[in-house]
Order: sequence, then C-alpha cells, then structure tokens
Amino acid sequence: MKIIIKKVTVGKWKVNCYLISCENEAWIIDPGDDVETIISSLNLDNYDLKGIVNTHSHFDHIGAVAEIKERYNIPFFLHSKDKRLATQGNLYRRMVGDETICKTPIIDEYLDDLPFLDLKGYEILIHHTPGHTNGGVCFEINNNLFTGDMLLKSNRFIPNLPGANNELMELSLNFIFEKFKGFLINPGHGKSFILDNDSINKFKLMI
Ligand SMILES: [Zn+2]
Ligand SMILES: [Zn+2]
Repeated sequence: MKIIIKKVTVGKWKVNCYLISCENEAWIIDPGDDVETIISSLNLDNYDLKGIVNTHSHFDHIGAVAEIKERYNIPFFLHSKDKRLATQGNLYRRMVGDETICKTPIIDEYLDDLPFLDLKGYEILIHHTPGHTNGGVCFEINNNLFTGDMLLKSNRFIPNLPGANNELMELSLNFIFEKFKGFLINPGHGKSFILDNDSINKFKLMI
C-alpha cells in the first residue's frame, strides 16, 4: 500500500492544502480557502475522508475548513492551544484588509489528545512545535514533514502575526533540524524542499 501526497495552492495568501492518502482513505491538511478548487483538484469525492487536520489556525489556513467539514460530514482536529485563534479568522482577515468572511469551524477533537492519525494502519505522527503559534504542530509520515508556517523555503518566519513567540520558535526549529534532517519539508506556503545540511545552515543564520 502506497502513501500518496497531493497538493493544491489556494486563496489570496497562496496556502498549500495537502491530501495524504492510502488507497481509498485520506486526510486533508490546511484547507485555507477556495472550497470548490480543493474539492476538484484533490478529487475529494473519490476518497473515504478521515478528517481535516490543521498545522495551525491562522486565518489563511482555516478558510475552507467549516464548509468541507460540513459537506463531507467529517471531523476537524486542531491543537487545543490554537483554539482561540481559530475563532479570530475574520478579525485578522479584516486587519490585513480582506473583506471575505470565513465560517468559524467547530473543533471535534484536539490533536494533543491523540497519539497519531491512522491512515490504513500507517501512523501520521503529530509533533507539537509552538512558536509560529502556540498550538502549531507538524505532521510526519514516510520521510515527509508538514510544517505549516514554521519552516518555509524562502523565509522561515512570518513576523507580526498573532501568537508568535521567538523563543519557542527557536526551540521548535532546533528540534526539527535535529530530528528531520533529510526529510521532504512540505510547507504551508511555497515549494517543498529537502531539509539538508545547506538549508539547515541557512535557517540557523536567520534564527
Ligand atoms: Zn501562519
Ligand atoms: Zn500561512
């Protein structure tokens, strides 16, 4: 059984939404906006969807959660420490000059209460990596790490967003550098890349 990863980039803030599947089962990560684009590009109708999980709950990552959750009647999982942020999507959209309204999703279960996400017997591991937000997590499967906005190819850190904490960020980044060297990093924005020595050294200069 093979794990397949698909990606679609959506919305004004160009968020990467991912689908991790194994045969008929799949998990959705960070459906940020553009419900119909996500459904058609990732062929959601073809899967037995297990749920939606978010790396964090910034306004650019949660825009399509509520609608997809309702359409497919599937649960939404988030780290408990990002609960409040998930209710503030529209507030922050307005702050950055955007008029679109996104529906606040109901959180069915907290990621911190789960040992892992099951995908046909495979384990998608959940790592709490606070710093970009308090409840930020990374998902690990098969030498792939889904980092949200923790680690982007171009600029590792998006400043001035609610929930950011530089000290926690540094701890979480060092944890990632130590544990995930050689992994394919699938970030919340921009292209995927291998976390090799060169990229680690570049990131360390920016901390
Ligand atoms: Zn973010
Ligand atoms: Zn983002």
